[in-house]
Amino acid sequence: MRHFLAAALAAAGLLEPGVSLSADYSLVIHGGAGAMPRAEMTAARERDVRAALEESLKAGQAILSAGGSALDAVSASVVVLEDSPYFNAGKGAVLTHEGRNELDASIMDGATLRAGAVAGVRRVRNPIVLARAVMEKSPHVMLTGKGAEEFARGIGIRLVEPGYFRTEERWQQLQDELGKAAARTQAQAEATDAPSYLGTVGAVARDRKGGLAAATSTGGMTNKRWGRVGDSPIIGAGTYANAHCAVSATGWGEFYIRAAVAHDICARVAYRGDSIRAASEEVVLRVVPKLGGDGGVIALGRDGEFSMPFNTAGMYRGWIDAEGQRRTDIYPDGSSR
Ligand code: ASP
Repeated sequence: MRHFLAAALAAAGLLEPGVSLSADYSLVIHGGAGAMPRAEMTAARERDVRAALEESLKAGQAILSAGGSALDAVSASVVVLEDSPYFNAGKGAVLTHEGRNELDASIMDGATLRAGAVAGVRRVRNPIVLARAVMEKSPHVMLTGKGAEEFARGIGIRLVEPGYFRTEERWQQLQDELGKAAARTQAQAEATDAPSYLGTVGAVARDRKGGLAAATSTGGMTNKRWGRVGDSPIIGAGTYANAHCAVSATGWGEFYIRAAVAHDICARVAYRGDSIRAASEEVVLRVVPKLGGDGGVIALGRDGEFSMPFNTAGMYRGWIDAEGQRRTDIYPDGSSR
């Protein structure tokens, strides 16, 4: 049936050659919770954002459909999103209080439980590539700041001038935040300081051998200071993968760290036998909000079950459906344009 359907779709030009109709691999990506409010989203912008998500899916799918590893697929998908100016990772990442970019990323291989992460890097074009190199080429799991860049230089990872990451839109966002902060008294700021986060990126994948992997990359939060680091580069908070489950998170990082979101979801699946959906919804829609945080995750199980819960207005996301077709969405349940 599957092959018949594949042949029919291919003949109709709806399926690219070489793309299997597959339940034998999976790929889910996100471009961040806290998507632009629907009222501000133009048709042109939505088209461009979806095109970037589509490119990211294509990059990962090409690897998985050729029998490549989940680890290679999540790396490739995240690199595409880091290179796109529409997401808060790599080019187009949000700016710190001082108007700089400080980037965080992490990656984990579920089959081996190996992991790598970087935080606060300013000159690495693709932080996810460096996170993977920390995992594969150093005895460590996490490197930060200048030391991480020294390591990158030593192994020939591509560095860029800090200005490469900067976009006019992010500069304006920082000015808005600074303006709002100046208008508030300290007491008001402490009471109402809900952060602006937008567009962290991530991917989870399952390869044909059943291996799972997860990757996440971010610029953190607009107007962050003092070397602030969120959940994205923290294994167990923003990223986790084991033999049962792979998770990449996006949201208010302080709460995602405190709830150890990515690990908690996988632990519920492994220890209690929860479904991916039940575990991820419980953590994202109940545990984190109870603490006062919000955001979303993409979660994937070893049988290909996946879930993409969020409690923000939207979450940029993409996945490969049961017929091997690439899908993207932004707002809840297919309600985008
Ligand atoms: N979780 C990220 C952080 O706190 C932000 C995001 O998801 O957009 O740094």
